[in-house]
Amino acid sequence: MDRGNTVGDYQFGNIKSEMKQRAVILGAGESGTGAALLAHVQGYDVFVSDQGTIKEKYKSELASKAIAWEEGKHSEEKILSADVIVKSPGIPEKAEIIKKAKAKNISIIDEIEFAFQFLKGKVIAITGTNGKTTTTLLTYHLLKQAGLNVALAGNVGESLAKKVATQSYNWYVVEMSSFQLDGIKSFRPDIGILLNITPDHLDRYEYQLQNYINSKFRLVQNMKPTDRFIYYSDDPVITKETANRKFIPQPLRISLKNQSCEAYYDGHEMRFSFDGNEFGVEQKDTTLKGSHNLINTMSAVAAARIAGVPVDSIRRGLKTFKNAPHRLESVGVINGIEFVNDSKATNVDSVVYALGSYTGPLVWIAGGIDKGNDYKLIEEEVRKKVRTLICLGKDNSKLHQAFDRVVKEVQETQSVKELVSMALQAAQKGDVVLLSPACASFDLFKNYEDRGNQFREAVAELKKKVEC
Ligand code: ADP
Repeated sequence: MDRGNTVGDYQFGNIKSEMKQRAVILGAGESGTGAALLAHVQGYDVFVSDQGTIKEKYKSELASKAIAWEEGKHSEEKILSADVIVKSPGIPEKAEIIKKAKAKNISIIDEIEFAFQFLKGKVIAITGTNGKTTTTLLTYHLLKQAGLNVALAGNVGESLAKKVATQSYNWYVVEMSSFQLDGIKSFRPDIGILLNITPDHLDRYEYQLQNYINSKFRLVQNMKPTDRFIYYSDDPVITKETANRKFIPQPLRISLKNQSCEAYYDGHEMRFSFDGNEFGVEQKDTTLKGSHNLINTMSAVAAARIAGVPVDSIRRGLKTFKNAPHRLESVGVINGIEFVNDSKATNVDSVVYALGSYTGPLVWIAGGIDKGNDYKLIEEEVRKKVRTLICLGKDNSKLHQAFDRVVKEVQETQSVKELVSMALQAAQKGDVVLLSPACASFDLFKNYEDRGNQFREAVAELKKKVEC
């Protein structure tokens, strides 16, 4: 059964017509295909249209339910006959077909909003500029290993619509980007987590930080007084915004210093004090490093506790959690030197935390396509900890400019194989070799995953060679 919400002009659960309703799905990626499957299960007459090419995987998912689709075009007569259009978050409001649908008063909603109409369990939604994936995976892990009936969805893994279509869960842990938040209308998490807000994707927000902030705060717009809003209260943007806004859900503040917060780090352990809970967790009893992961861990632990996971079970879960690859991922130890893959760190902000996670000395690998980095932010930390910098990019001039006088040795390469040998040469026993590039990867690699995978493989190969 659906929620009976009115979304735009479209009222779910109030279908007067005897005729089958027509749902048209625009975009057939993960979220579009999920929406199509859900619409099918809910009894809609479904049509999927993608202006690009649809991946084979999604074509066969659609075919398995005999759902009609087209690719390489948007056939107006088939689309504009819809009762409701579900669009993928990647399709902008400005797209011609959206304008035409609006002119015809067809209700247009996003996949997450559509999924929410049919979802019966509770929702934990997680957003922020950085840390979403880690926190989402950890929260999911804590609930799952405690035996709760929980789904992982959103930006990580399968789409929420697909999860709702295929099985019913008591809990949905959903990673949400700001683009997905932009598309919500009645979506309401029972627990919302906001990790941080720093300038990012501003091209989508008319270069106005406030627009991006407003997007992130859509997380709480429909929440009720009994819902919980977990947020990182040391973040200056969040602090200012929470002071200026009226929000309804009960706050649960996370801090790295402020003892009056419901969850805070006292310099030794993470302390939790809310809803009659009083307990502490040391970071050494978790699998995550660095102060950024204290924030992520405290958020996930608070959410899990609110969801009813016992403290003992949380402790066990923290010990067995394995993060997604490319985020401070240890990929091997050669001659007492640990190699770490943090290829996901594509901006300076993430590198601040990566450097902060080690006491040094480090062989730091950085470079790629610079998105306007201000290296002053990490100069002191680099001076203190980095023994050698190896630049892995086509144009390394900005890194040279920033660090030639800060680090004793700065080297360059464009080959990953050569890179790992150079790093092993430069490092001494006990050092960490850290790939945390501060840059996008497209000059030499397909994407950050490709960069991280090549690094991991090269380390494994070198290890075999050295240890043979
Ligand atoms: P997202 O899904 O938001 O991109 P990830 O968990 O994939 O977040 O982490 C992306 C990058 O941001 C990684 O390099 C990680 O080290 C860094 N990071 C993770 N959590 C935080 C945080 N709370 N604050 C700042 N940086 C973080």
